[in-house]
Amino acid sequence: MTTVGILGGGQLARMLALSGAPLGLRFLVMDNVADACAGQFAPMVVGDYRDEATLSEFASRVDVATFDFENVPAESAQWLSERVPVFPNPGALATAQDRLAEKTLFRELGIPVPPFAPIDTREQLDAALADIGTPCILKTRRLGYDGKGQFRIKSPADADAAWEALGAQAPKVGLILEGFVHFQRELSVVAVRGRDGEFRAWPLTENWHVDGVLSASLAPARVDTALGEIAYDYARRLAEAMDYVGVFALELFCRDGELLANELAPRVHNSGHWTIEGSETSQFQNHLRAVLGLPLGDTRMVGLACMLNWIGEMPDALPMLREPGGHWHDYGKLPRAGRKVGHATLRADDANALAMSLERVGLALGREAQVAPVVEALR
Ligand code: ATP
Ligand code: MG
Ligand code: MG
Repeated sequence: MTTVGILGGGQLARMLALSGAPLGLRFLVMDNVADACAGQFAPMVVGDYRDEATLSEFASRVDVATFDFENVPAESAQWLSERVPVFPNPGALATAQDRLAEKTLFRELGIPVPPFAPIDTREQLDAALADIGTPCILKTRRLGYDGKGQFRIKSPADADAAWEALGAQAPKVGLILEGFVHFQRELSVVAVRGRDGEFRAWPLTENWHVDGVLSASLAPARVDTALGEIAYDYARRLAEAMDYVGVFALELFCRDGELLANELAPRVHNSGHWTIEGSETSQFQNHLRAVLGLPLGDTRMVGLACMLNWIGEMPDALPMLREPGGHWHDYGKLPRAGRKVGHATLRADDANALAMSLERVGLALGREAQVAPVVEALR
């Protein structure tokens, strides 16, 4: 009996555990809070990620370890990897944890990125602002997620407010200034690389964010297939350069037919949740297969799929459950503003059927605004 250890016990760990059950896998989750939602399905070790006794107990009970979030301290991942196989490797995790390291790698590999500059002091911010120009975004280099730790600078007059908001964090997590990309679309490529180097990717996904948080995803993205090939090529280059094992997502901006890389998530990704019902093999199953050195499953999809995120609180499930291709995922979390508490996936065989299904659900739930951009993309 193989036990897979997962650092982080959120919904990603929960869906990994659910998808690993048919493979006969056992799981052990480590989290710093006792009510993490993966704990409803898997035994848990609770403690700080830096606590050696907790890590030690975790290591002694698992055959292999992986992550459900990228902010596990790199030193803890390293410590663990000296005792048990850890995938993706701690070096890849460290790169993806730091927006500066990750953007530098993108650039080294010839993957286009918006202009960026590291910021440690107010003087550097002023210099970078003059260089990059406005609009731009000041971000924390580390620990940001769901758009947290970001300040949008519309004009040079916002520099004081930006420094006021984030300057105090500069010594601890570092800051980066990025040029604002006037993109037409946001896309992501979710990909997987096996222990033997085999690489596969799911069809390109189009994503819509509200207040920096993913709201909806559509696959396949309604873009030229040539763009998909470019995105796969970028993802493959990155996976090989980092000797990556497991699933990851590369977030991309599409501007005037060109792709620019935003960030790499070293884990299964929200924009790949549709693969549970929309693809031959889900991202969760393929992540486990990769980590365990098993053959990777086919990433092809049938028809189209749209994923809707439920933020803050769960809506009524019935309208979605009444749809022929409707699938419901309640993460079993307590409602809280801004929190991802669940998602739903709608599947259909053609664009028109998916658009109609989305419109019915949007109307029934009073979420017309959430489905509108997806319906528009489908028409
Ligand atoms: P995630 O939850 O995806 O990890 P995050 O907190 O790491 O989010 P980003 O992905 O950097 O943050 O930014 C969140 C969103 O803000 C992006 O998906 C995009 O919509 C917008 N955004 C970020 N950077 C830029 C940019 N340079 N130009 C334009 N929009 C941007
Ligand atoms: Mg991120
Ligand atoms: Mg992002």
